[in-house]
Amino acid sequence: MVVQKFGGTSVADPAAIRRLIEIVRAARTRDGRGPAVVVSAMSGVTDALLAIAAAAGAGKDADALGRVTQLRERHHVAARDLVPGAELPALTRHLDQQFDELTAVVKALVVLREVSPRTLDVVAAMGELLSSRMVAAALTEAGIPADWVDARRAIVTNDDHTRAVPLMRETMAAMRASVVPVLDAGRVPVLGGFVAATIEGHTTTLGRGGSDYSGAIVGAGTDAAEIQIWTDVDGMLTADPRVIAAPRLVPQLSFKEAAELAYFGAKVLHPSTILPAVERDIPVRILNSRKPEGDGTLITAAGAANGNAVTALACKRDVTVVDITSSRMLMAYGFLRQVFEIFERFTTAVDVVTTSEVSVSVTVDDRRHLEAIVEALRAFAEVCVEPEMALLCAVGDRLRNDPETAPRVVRVLEEVPLRMISQAASRRNITVIMRQADLPHAMQRLHEEFFAQ
Ligand code: ASP
Ligand code: MG
Repeated sequence: MVVQKFGGTSVADPAAIRRLIEIVRAARTRDGRGPAVVVSAMSGVTDALLAIAAAAGAGKDADALGRVTQLRERHHVAARDLVPGAELPALTRHLDQQFDELTAVVKALVVLREVSPRTLDVVAAMGELLSSRMVAAALTEAGIPADWVDARRAIVTNDDHTRAVPLMRETMAAMRASVVPVLDAGRVPVLGGFVAATIEGHTTTLGRGGSDYSGAIVGAGTDAAEIQIWTDVDGMLTADPRVIAAPRLVPQLSFKEAAELAYFGAKVLHPSTILPAVERDIPVRILNSRKPEGDGTLITAAGAANGNAVTALACKRDVTVVDITSSRMLMAYGFLRQVFEIFERFTTAVDVVTTSEVSVSVTVDDRRHLEAIVEALRAFAEVCVEPEMALLCAVGDRLRNDPETAPRVVRVLEEVPLRMISQAASRRNITVIMRQADLPHAMQRLHEEFFAQ
């Protein structure tokens, strides 16, 4: 069986949920078991809930309660549309219970004028608790036997509220007690993503975008053959669609390639959010819920068996290059340590590094502490800062076996002044740094070189 996780846009309204129903039906017919379904909140709902909590904590009760009414209306309208029959009274009751609870919390926050992380989780979790109830009822109404499973009884976390970390041993046991019996009974379990609870039963959330993580955990807990992430894009693309006109779909890539691409700005699942799948070697597939007939992008441990030396390109804009040259010149051991200690002190991550005997160049993304960093570096080095640079990288597992790839990248970018070039130990990635203005042309050139038909 498979786990199917649907993002916010894939449950945004009744039309989207009807597409979900047919996707679930097809998986059930094909596999004869499952699927297990994990859903995000309807799109925009988590943001709205956080705004409600903020308004309530600031004492703006009319604003907060007005927004609660809007959300209540949106869910009831969708419920009546999707579930006109026998399931409606029970669903209406569940939705109302949830909204009554939200209203009570809002009133308490207005009095307390303070939103603790624990309370914020109670509020933020409601989006997924509502959407999962609705999807379970809609599936049942459409003739697919489905059971709502309370995610707070399925995923156990520590008490680091708003970004809680799952306790895997406890979670696997909880899954065996909550999700697996539903599958064994030939039914479809439906859970809200993002939501979990501590051992004591306090509601927690896994951090923004955490539903993918929930999907991976449910995949691990049900021993799924595949975890499907249903979203509003066709899958991973060979280049950034905001930069070049016609990138192609990447049919298959490895977890490690996905990690490099995510780090360098590609809009793809971050492997840390699917770690439970990576650890158990469960394939993850990204699919478009508006075009369910597509193959999407498959992410596996091994990646594609053959194909291009380069799997995909990624880029990051607004990068700053910092050149640091030792004023003491040669043989300055301890220089790199001094340099990186300063970045550490100002909690600023460095992305790409190139060095020579007396100088080191680094790129940073986060400019918040840049002035202070430069001042500290100037105590022992000459420093030159260049803003408005861009990072472009070519990623591919097979790069390491193909000595021609690196020279090809550089040759194709002949007329683009490259500020830094780096190939790291993973040898899965060649990264070049250039002026931001040169990025579109450079990405276009590389794309033609590696992905021309
Ligand atoms: N609804 C949550 C969020 O918007 C979790 C998710 O959709 O993955 O962050
Ligand atoms: Mg999301």
